Amino acid sequence: MIDIHCHILHGIDDGAKNVEDSITMAKEAAKEGIHTIIATPHLNNHYDNRKVEIIEKVKELNQNLQAANINVKILPGQEPRIFGEILADFEKGDIQTLNDSQYLFVEFPSSHVPRYTEKLLFDLQVKGLTPIIVHPERNAELIERPDVLYNLVEKGALTQVTASSLCGYFGKKIKNFSIQLIENNLTHFIASDAHNVINRSFKMEEAFEFIESKFGTDYVYLFKENAELLIDGKSIMREIPTSIKKKKKFLFF
Ligand code: FE
Repeated sequence: MIDIHCHILHGIDDGAKNVEDSITMAKEAAKEGIHTIIATPHLNNHYDNRKVEIIEKVKELNQNLQAANINVKILPGQEPRIFGEILADFEKGDIQTLNDSQYLFVEFPSSHVPRYTEKLLFDLQVKGLTPIIVHPERNAELIERPDVLYNLVEKGALTQVTASSLCGYFGKKIKNFSIQLIENNLTHFIASDAHNVINRSFKMEEAFEFIESKFGTDYVYLFKENAELLIDGKSIMREIPTSIKKKKKFLFF
């Protein structure tokens, strides 16, 4: 299994603090059957992780994992918070796509979706990049107005739901919204977004057990296959998205 979203690089964001943490996380990942992890450190107002340093850190961690005899491979990635100059920074060489593919993570603020998002995601696609919106299920505006997400997916954006959201670790509302995203073909990847092994662990095995019981093995295959296609820079499988219908409130007299 491949995990495309993980804060396993140490000392550069709110994920692993030191090399021991990184190794502990890799061991936990291996236990769940994960053999490849894309390291996706934050790029936002708090953490300034740019491509060159990420590549260096990935190389170093792979050496440490090899030395510790852990069979997990780390690939370079990044989790940039959406900002107006992302394309300019990409051209400067500061942005690290997922394993150097055309796929690029984009994180929204947790409370809302900036107004310029649609235009920016369009501009990225014009440049040949495919934006992947990370954890849309945890965005307050998207929970209230799922059609905002439908519109972005319809226009070519992809999305990644977090394994632990689907398992209910972020509460019932986020779990239910995650389920609706799968039901409506509004998500394309399941990933851990693991930060540690204590309260933000992988939960990939648990999520896929849940997906299998609720949606069947086809969906397990779809999500696992998409992660493989992504790291190879190939086109992923996507079904036609549908709009999430809000449940009607019935009034009884
Ligand atoms: Fe993350």
